[in-house]
Amino acid sequence: MTQSLSFVHPTADSPWGTYLMQVDRVVPYLGHLARWVETLKHPKRMLIVDVPIEMDDGRVAHFEGFRVQHNLSRGPGKGGVRFHPDVTLEEVMALAAWMSVKNAAVNLPFGGAKGGIRCDPKLLSNKELERMTRRYTSEIGIIIGPQRDIPAPDVNTNPQIMAWMMDTYSMNTGSTATGVVTGKPVDLGGSLGRVKATGRGVFVTGREAARRLNLDLNGARVAVQGFGNVGAAAAELFNQAGGKVVAAQDHTGSIFNGHGFDMADLMAHVKSAGGVGGFKGGEAMKAEEFWDVDCDILIPAALEGQITAERARRIKAKLVLEGANGPTVPSADDILAERGVLVVPDVICNAGGVTVSYFEWVQDFSSFFWTEDEINVRLDKIMIGALKRIWDTADRHTITLRTATFAVACERILTARAERGLYP
Ligand code: NAD
Repeated sequence: MTQSLSFVHPTADSPWGTYLMQVDRVVPYLGHLARWVETLKHPKRMLIVDVPIEMDDGRVAHFEGFRVQHNLSRGPGKGGVRFHPDVTLEEVMALAAWMSVKNAAVNLPFGGAKGGIRCDPKLLSNKELERMTRRYTSEIGIIIGPQRDIPAPDVNTNPQIMAWMMDTYSMNTGSTATGVVTGKPVDLGGSLGRVKATGRGVFVTGREAARRLNLDLNGARVAVQGFGNVGAAAAELFNQAGGKVVAAQDHTGSIFNGHGFDMADLMAHVKSAGGVGGFKGGEAMKAEEFWDVDCDILIPAALEGQITAERARRIKAKLVLEGANGPTVPSADDILAERGVLVVPDVICNAGGVTVSYFEWVQDFSSFFWTEDEINVRLDKIMIGALKRIWDTADRHTITLRTATFAVACERILTARAERGLYP
């Protein structure tokens, strides 16, 4: 008798609830593998750690840290680490599960994992951030490793934080282990092209989807929520392809310019001001007005649960590119599908980052590094090939791209599960 998990209480719109619904929707397409589907609803391993650190003023603060390994049937765990005040075990479980699906969707030899610390990094000094990162790494050190589970950047984490994680793990194990994390600085075994890889994948999958919709990127109006690593890189690439970025929103504000922003000016403003708020090259608007903006392409690239059923009815875009993980709740997904809005789901759309993380891991093992051109050519080829296979599956069964991505990915995960068999 399979039991549901006692310690999470998912709702229809919560991250784990959203993921469970997505799994339920794929069951009819799994054939004999449906026997194993409960595997996908039961994360393999979850670690909650206390992260005590000494603050600069001498106080001792405690933070809650997590690392979840959702499924390791196809290889070591792989997935980012998030520093955010809203991080919970339930959120990290969903993010880890989406990593299992994403890694299988692009056929990388990885399982899915994710980690996080419940904290507001903006309130920490650089030294406090370093101490917190190092203590967290040490605490999760019992389950991570180059062949076991390989963290990477996510919201509010970056190459510097990956360098601290790599150093801490290496100090604890007694030898330099560059392959324990990806998204490192290039001079510490990082890969060229990694920083912009997720945004690039959003662009490449978006370009393919636009072609199928007969939507010309030249002059296409783009709205981007979240102007960090993913959103800003994707916005720049659409701008370079002739698109106009007409709206942007982040935690500092929401801005609009019907003629398109001057991207160089906007990037410089974000760098100096810490966000899009206050940018003079556009008008400020209320946060909720962002969802009413007249645009062709909408890129949610911030956090989960942003496209609710109510917002889905108002969205004007023809194409939604999910740069963020889990931005659309299931009821909103249905409304977008009914309204004929094409959604390229997170589990393929934002897979560019983990694909170049895979390249980084391979380069670290072989100690032989590729050029940025080689990285980008290989990335584009993998993303386009994976999307084509997903699209063929969607056409064959007349299902959404999300369910088709789950169908391709879950077949791979559960085939590995069935072939390995149950131990003992
Ligand atoms: P980031 O920290 O670089 O940027 C996050 C952005 O979201 C910032 O611009 C921030 O201001 C904005 N934001 C935060 N709260 C917001 C709110 N309430 N409303 C509007 N905007 C808000 O993070 P990132 O790495 O760009 O990650 C963004 C999303 O992409 C996340 O869902 C993450 O899981 C996903 N993702 C990231 C990667 C990667 O390689 N970094 C890979 C795949 C998916």
